[in-house]
Amino acid sequence: MLQGKTALVTGSTSGIGLGIAKALAAQGANVMLNGFGDASGPMAEIAALGVKAGYHGADMSKPAEIAAMVQACETQFGALDILVNNAGIQHVANVEDFPPERWDAVIAINLSSAFHSMHHALPGMRARGWGRILNIASAHGLVASAGKSAYVAAKHGIVGLTKAAALETATTGITVNAICPGWVLTPLVQKQVDARAEKDGISNDEAKTRLLGDKQPSLQFVTPEQLGALAVFLSSPAADQVRGVAWNMDGGWVAQ
Ligand code: NAD
Repeated sequence: MLQGKTALVTGSTSGIGLGIAKALAAQGANVMLNGFGDASGPMAEIAALGVKAGYHGADMSKPAEIAAMVQACETQFGALDILVNNAGIQHVANVEDFPPERWDAVIAINLSSAFHSMHHALPGMRARGWGRILNIASAHGLVASAGKSAYVAAKHGIVGLTKAAALETATTGITVNAICPGWVLTPLVQKQVDARAEKDGISNDEAKTRLLGDKQPSLQFVTPEQLGALAVFLSSPAADQVRGVAWNMDGGWVAQ
């Protein structure tokens, strides 16, 4: 379904980003990966799906590197058709204890990076008359949790950015939407599981159960594969009129 299209997925060397990259590749899209760490394994997984795989190591807190990455994608693949803004970090502390430099980092990587990539990707999408922008927000784009002020602010912000950009592109073939996952067991969340196990003096499994029990009524993690399937749907012609939504896939988290 996505043959001939090129997707750029930020933060796709692990977790949700890699899951979405693989789902888009399985539909025929070429994929440029991004993120820290060794990208050779993820690149091989994409190439094994029979599409072209690329990688750019832009640091998503650096606007000039984001610009260079978008340009590299257009040069290397001829276009950037599907932009998935997924890179993200977490820091947990109450506002009065929150290190200002961690605040700046969370806002830069989880929110401003999406502005910069969209700023550079939209002209090409407009010229070609088609595009998909998927911003990976969070249940925390819709509701808050204590201790996550920067993350909640960034994720609420990206939902707002999504709506504004969706209106600006409403009469075009470009759609802009946000996906709001609940708990997904990735390295980002494993750190929080480890912290919970240590704080409560409990096993890893019990910490996972308590984390889910606090927020996610299904008591099951959302998977990167399920989020990949939603990204494929939002990239499909069936979703041509899905514009500016913040679509939660969260085991019932925000229904409470
Ligand atoms: P993860 O830690 O597994 O992956 C994060 C990715 O971002 C990695 O590839 C990492 O290398 C990359 N990254 C981090 N900082 C970067 C930077 N400065 N420049 C470039 N790449 C950078 O995390 P994940 O859980 O897969 O999270 C992906 C996205 O999903 C994030 O935006 C996160 O907020 C969001 N999210 C996650 C959950 C969850 O439960 N895991 C829930 C809701 C939303």
